[in-house]
Amino acid sequence: MKSLKEPSVAPDARPSQDRAQPAKARIGIDLGGTKTEVICLEPSGHISYQNRFPTPRGHYPDLLEALAKAIQLADPEPDPRLMKPIGIGTPGAVSKKTGLMKNCNTTELNGQNLAADLSRLVSRDVKIANDADCFTLSEALDGRGQDHNCVFGVILGTGVGGGIAINQSLLAGPNAIAGEWGHNALPFDRLRPDTDFPWPRGRSCYCGQIDCIETWLSGDGVTQSYEVLTGERWTAAEIFDKPNRSEATQKTFDQYSQLCALALSTVINLIDPDIIVLGGGLSNTPGLCQAVEGQWAHSVFSDQVATRIACARHGDASGVRGAAWLWSA
Ligand SMILES: [Zn+2]
Repeated sequence: MKSLKEPSVAPDARPSQDRAQPAKARIGIDLGGTKTEVICLEPSGHISYQNRFPTPRGHYPDLLEALAKAIQLADPEPDPRLMKPIGIGTPGAVSKKTGLMKNCNTTELNGQNLAADLSRLVSRDVKIANDADCFTLSEALDGRGQDHNCVFGVILGTGVGGGIAINQSLLAGPNAIAGEWGHNALPFDRLRPDTDFPWPRGRSCYCGQIDCIETWLSGDGVTQSYEVLTGERWTAAEIFDKPNRSEATQKTFDQYSQLCALALSTVINLIDPDIIVLGGGLSNTPGLCQAVEGQWAHSVFSDQVATRIACARHGDASGVRGAAWLWSA
């Protein structure tokens, strides 16, 4: 197994009741491309403060200033000894090579040392992790995965990401990409031979590869699939949230769940998790967990599949909760 998570993530992060030292609250920030959420998370797991605002775009100093103001609002404590620490989750990551942000869709963050810059501005400690890792940590600590040793957290949304928690600690590696399954190629050759699959392969991914899992399982992937069938272009939410599914909607869903099962079977073969927890907008699609669970046995290398699959306990709040949990007491 790989080493514990990089220093930007507290290696001993776990629920406060397990800690010998007195626990204190911490600030969690989910820094998204369009909106930013700030919470104050008590040691009990209770959210005692919550604030959302549009993420300032285009100018890094403006973003820093907005974050500093939001932190001041969330925790106006003037005594440095009592200030709450800050944990931030973003779609990007901290490069192990440079220590600077990379892969952020909030592109003005790329190449910046956000943790150091913000820490200097607010005179507090700041930790940063990938948002899928934050999601996974949250669900492993006090979510659907809390009673399991090995948790694979999955984000199915605008992008497709993942994270791995072992004994309630995140895993990383020398490249800081543990769990990043979204940019593996879908193993189409493992589809059942009798599969009716009318969608043309060869979708280009922004990462430079073809047919990454993300190009099929993201929201845009669903939009593309539905468009192939109908010629109409709708968002994934508009397609799957309709109360009555049309034939094209049902076929798109069937294909989606089948590919999701196929992609997750490669995860099961590799790390054999106790539970897979789904998050992100598409995880709320009715019937998805059951449909995936009913199809993955075909491509898992085992005579049984005991791995469970469930939607996140904390729903959309898991990312920001996990950011706060980056800090121990
Ligand atoms: Zn890709």
